[in-house]
Amino acid sequence: MTKGSFLITFSLAMTTALCLMGNQDLLLNAYGYPFLLLSKLVMLWSATLASLAILTVIRAHSLEFLFGGLDNAVIIHRKLGIVAIGMMLAHVVLLSLDAYTNGRSVAELLVPFWSSNTRSADILVFYFILLLGILAYNKKMRYEPWLRFHRTIGILFLIGTFHASIEPGTINSYEPLRTWIVFLLFIGLFSWGYRIYFFRKFGPCFKYKLLSIEQRNDKIIDLIMDPIERRMMYIPGNFVFIAIPEFNDKKNELHPFSISSSPTERKLRLSINQVGDFTKQLSSLIEKVDQGSGSVVDVYGPFGSFTLHRFAPYRRMVWIGAGIGITPFLSMLRFEISNEDFRRIWLYYVVKTKDDAVYDKEISEHYLQTNSYIDYKLWTSKSEGRLTARKVVDEVELEDYAVMLCGTKAFVEDMRKQFTALGFSSERIIIEELQFRSV
Ligand SMILES: Cc1cc2nc3c(=O)[nH]c(=O)nc-3n(C[C@H](O)[C@H](O)[C@H](O)COP(=O)(O)OP(=O)(O)OC[C@H]3O[C@@H](n4cnc5c(N)ncnc54)[C@H](O)[C@@H]3O)c2cc1C
Repeated sequence: MTKGSFLITFSLAMTTALCLMGNQDLLLNAYGYPFLLLSKLVMLWSATLASLAILTVIRAHSLEFLFGGLDNAVIIHRKLGIVAIGMMLAHVVLLSLDAYTNGRSVAELLVPFWSSNTRSADILVFYFILLLGILAYNKKMRYEPWLRFHRTIGILFLIGTFHASIEPGTINSYEPLRTWIVFLLFIGLFSWGYRIYFFRKFGPCFKYKLLSIEQRNDKIIDLIMDPIERRMMYIPGNFVFIAIPEFNDKKNELHPFSISSSPTERKLRLSINQVGDFTKQLSSLIEKVDQGSGSVVDVYGPFGSFTLHRFAPYRRMVWIGAGIGITPFLSMLRFEISNEDFRRIWLYYVVKTKDDAVYDKEISEHYLQTNSYIDYKLWTSKSEGRLTARKVVDEVELEDYAVMLCGTKAFVEDMRKQFTALGFSSERIIIEELQFRSV
């Protein structure tokens, strides 16, 4: 069991135990009329998971060990968030069933301002959270407004829990339960506040100066930066968030990018696919670079657990980077040159056509002469078809190797499923999805 799963299981068990202890009368009468007790329990589980979901994405380096790195934590966050909203929904369904079986008005529970007994504020918050939850799946919404919506869900959950803990009711009537819920609330609130208000001020920020922008093809650029004061230490495979203070309209945006340089180098390199507003605007910085006064880049990090130390027991590895998903492997390859630790590596660089393989030359010419033994294959899907786990397994032949996958969520998820179907345990596969949002 991982530390994160332990924390989640422990928290749910604690909530359950305290809820049952605080509702012994309902527990004794639960047989035949379980709805009320169950509705209380699922709501408390929902509040517990919501606090933990906010904690997962706190962006504190020192807490990354809990959920296996921020990249992994985001995946856990998505699952916890969905389950928390699902349980909130289950709470309302169970409450309605309880009212119905006891001959009370269901409308009083579902329609705000229905009667003087209706808890209108709670009902409105419930519908609002549900609406925001649905909007989280709106593919068309730009990332930044989506993020603002998304953050509102967290704070609404916390306000709802706070309200429930001061109102007469389940939480308030049993002090140990109230103390526990307030503790969870504090964790959620602290995590939310740090993430949104204090991360930019107190987070691990390193100021870098942009030295050059190298155009790799019509879409991909490399940013090469030099530290202005302190140099950031990182492990190959880590990623950072960057902000560009001179982008007036976007100065508050933080965008994640994997590092493609080696920690043995002073210069920091990010390799970026220009897909939208922010990444395209990066090209405008070239003017200042040409004039010799490179722009300042705020680099926050390092984060993530897509690193080789996760695979200490494995001496053989398959690395698969699709498109710009090759970036963390570029860092690992660069590092391998100065690394005495022999490893057997099979590297697949998956692109559509050869023209898209902008790092092919760099890999073939500079990185294959290392202490490790590297088998490199450029996989062009237009001519060779889709790369599948079966093809990889057939080519590698040997057993006892671990797999690292990096690319879009769809690619990584599909390959992970394929390797799992071929009998690979989850410890033998680590992934990096180049998107935090699930849609
Ligand atoms: C861990 C991680 C590592 C990454 N490494 C690389 C890399 O090495 N090279 C590379 O080219 N890309 C990388 N990305 C993707 C990169 O962050 C997005 O392409 C970039 O933020 C897009 O911003 P935009 O405004 O130009 O595009 P938009 O068109 O606004 O967004 C395109 C997509 O990028 C994502 N995105 C947009 N803004 C943000 C944001 N502020 N934070 C998080 N995601 C956002 C969303 O999924 C969005 O749908 C990585 C992403 C993650 C999560």
